[in-house]
Amino acid sequence: MRPLFAVLGVQVALGAIFAVLVISGALPMSSDGKPGTGIARVDRFDGPAAWRLLKMQVAYGPRPAGSPRERRLGARLRALLPHGRYEPVPGGLRNVVGTVPGRDPRRYVVVGAHYDTKAIRGFVGANDGAGGTAQLVQLARQLRPRTIGPTVVFIAFDGEESPGASDGDDFYVKGLRGSKVAARAYRHAQAMVLLDFVADRRLSLPREGSSDPTLWARLRAAARSAGVGSYFPDATEDTIFDDHTPFARVGVPAINLIDWDFPCWHKRCDNLSAVSERSLDASGEAVAGLLRTLK
Ligand SMILES: [Zn+2]
Repeated sequence: MRPLFAVLGVQVALGAIFAVLVISGALPMSSDGKPGTGIARVDRFDGPAAWRLLKMQVAYGPRPAGSPRERRLGARLRALLPHGRYEPVPGGLRNVVGTVPGRDPRRYVVVGAHYDTKAIRGFVGANDGAGGTAQLVQLARQLRPRTIGPTVVFIAFDGEESPGASDGDDFYVKGLRGSKVAARAYRHAQAMVLLDFVADRRLSLPREGSSDPTLWARLRAAARSAGVGSYFPDATEDTIFDDHTPFARVGVPAINLIDWDFPCWHKRCDNLSAVSERSLDASGEAVAGLLRTLK
């Protein structure tokens, strides 16, 4: 009997150690390749505040570029962003730009998201529009001046969605109206981070095909140290023309956070039921961590 009890005792002890490791987060239980489920270990990003900003935008209803509701939202974003101002875009549109100064006045990075929604009847773009914009505004509001090297220019793009056209070169010509203006104005940025589909419930963010591999690796490292690495699987998805593309074309290292495996893309089900505060917080923690590494 004695040897059996000894074996049992060792097993119980090993089980207890394993349980402690899992509970403490030292052994992550979600594996790469599956949508993330973790809760952030560090708290550099105010998820509840970002979630309120997402719901605030959805409450405006559909917000196609140039519509009265979208213009009212633009004014709201200008008031919310530090040193908020408009940047004119052809067609009577306007980007909304906020700035948080860094320690080195010669260098800057751009963080972007689009605040217009696709012109589909009843479409409120909770993930495609509101999520990235909410994350952008919250990152801008909580980043303290002169805590990192470069200045961060936060740009809410107007006119990302193309009226009518769907994708490909046609989309590049007719859509991305605000980011094409901003990429010319900020072509000397040392990096560009685009926040697009960052709030969907089953969030998984592999590297978008054209996203700069080095900058993406830094984002993944920041995600791991924030405890949200499971949301960023070591994989590459399709290349997607998006608001980062005009920046990449003028030579700025650019990355795009977009969960292209999103079943409600340009469908009316892209409403509050398609997004979650936990996803918005997880991707926000990763980007907040990345910004802190910019020396
Ligand atoms: Zn869209």
